[in-house]
Amino acid sequence: MANRNYRIKQLLQIQACTNCQACAEVCPAVAGNLEGNLSAVYRMKGISRILKARTWLWRKLIRVKEPTREELRAFSDTVFRCTLCGSCQEVCPVGIELKELWHSVRRDLVDSDAYPGKINIIRENLKENHNVFGEDNEERADWVEDIPDAPSHGYLRKQAEVIYFTGCVAAFFPMAQRIPIALAEIFDAAKVDFTLLGEDEWCCGFPLLGAGLRDLAGELMNHNVHAVREKGAQKVVFACPSCYQMWQEYYPREFEIAHVSEFLNELIKSNRIPLQAIDLTVTYHDPCDLGRGRRIFEAPREVIRSIPGVKLVELSRNRENCQCCGGGGNLEMIDAELSAKIAKQKIEEILATGAQAVVTSCQQCVRIMTTYTKRNKIPIEVMDISQLVYRAFKG
Ligand code: SF4
Ligand code: SF4
Repeated sequence: MANRNYRIKQLLQIQACTNCQACAEVCPAVAGNLEGNLSAVYRMKGISRILKARTWLWRKLIRVKEPTREELRAFSDTVFRCTLCGSCQEVCPVGIELKELWHSVRRDLVDSDAYPGKINIIRENLKENHNVFGEDNEERADWVEDIPDAPSHGYLRKQAEVIYFTGCVAAFFPMAQRIPIALAEIFDAAKVDFTLLGEDEWCCGFPLLGAGLRDLAGELMNHNVHAVREKGAQKVVFACPSCYQMWQEYYPREFEIAHVSEFLNELIKSNRIPLQAIDLTVTYHDPCDLGRGRRIFEAPREVIRSIPGVKLVELSRNRENCQCCGGGGNLEMIDAELSAKIAKQKIEEILATGAQAVVTSCQQCVRIMTTYTKRNKIPIEVMDISQLVYRAFKG
């Protein structure tokens, strides 16, 4: 473990924690497992102690020993059982940038060889197959075969103005593939000059941040930028908030980028997607990376309200206070049971609204919430914003 994994600002922020516990009150992992040691405040104390123990002067002053491998592993167990939802950061009264700090702590623990073994699967899958699931990346656009009247080019054009970057979850999970299918048909009908990258789309690199392997993301990012350039595109559109956030915050600012909720909103406002009425009451779940992460709250709500017949009822915790679905931070891979407990809390809150369906703007949220409702036979529909628009478009 090394203190060089932290920026000076982070080292100062760690010391600024006032132990107010506000972060613990909003943490979905704490609520899910009723375990205080999953909270940000618990970790802040742990990091502070570890950083001091690694500093010669502090060791002399307060006579603490360097943490053993076992202690680091125990600490790692709390650090990686977190969805990286950012709720703690949202409420922290002293403005500690906790989400970025969790990335740094994970990186530190990986460097210290004190991390969950499943992180190695992410590393290997991305290295060998360029997608987070270890699938054959040549099959990335195979979902197009499920579109009955797909054009012969299969949405793989040599050049186009817009790239639709599908992301690993929508490309490979059958449950989420309805999202790209809906979008491809909508874009086609709206005469958007778009293409997929197919096998030349590699994972955006976002899972590497949560895996503490940020240094490995460069190769993936360079490849993707080159692939978009080759198509002569000016704009890249994402249905996945994590891909979108990754491109916003870590990629070079070479292209205009948009989340699909913004892009669909523009298309609807310019009358390029004819929408028919649907009689449906829905609630909206703000995905963490799109809402708290990128502050996109209104575009998806405007899309929902633009569909005649659709009534929107808000969750009790919405926008920046929206509770995570349980699918972030690679948690599902590391502790599937905790991920499901967080999903349970989410679905209970959704059911309390009386809505017939929950709409979100994230393929991973769709996958997590659909898995939970199907497994537990809960009669509520889960859909992405693109699927709601598709339904109104198809009539
Ligand atoms: S990011 Fe979310 S899950 Fe992780 S500690 Fe903060 S509130 Fe809890
Ligand atoms: S909310 Fe911020 S200041 Fe309060 S305990 Fe949590 S990290 Fe510390």
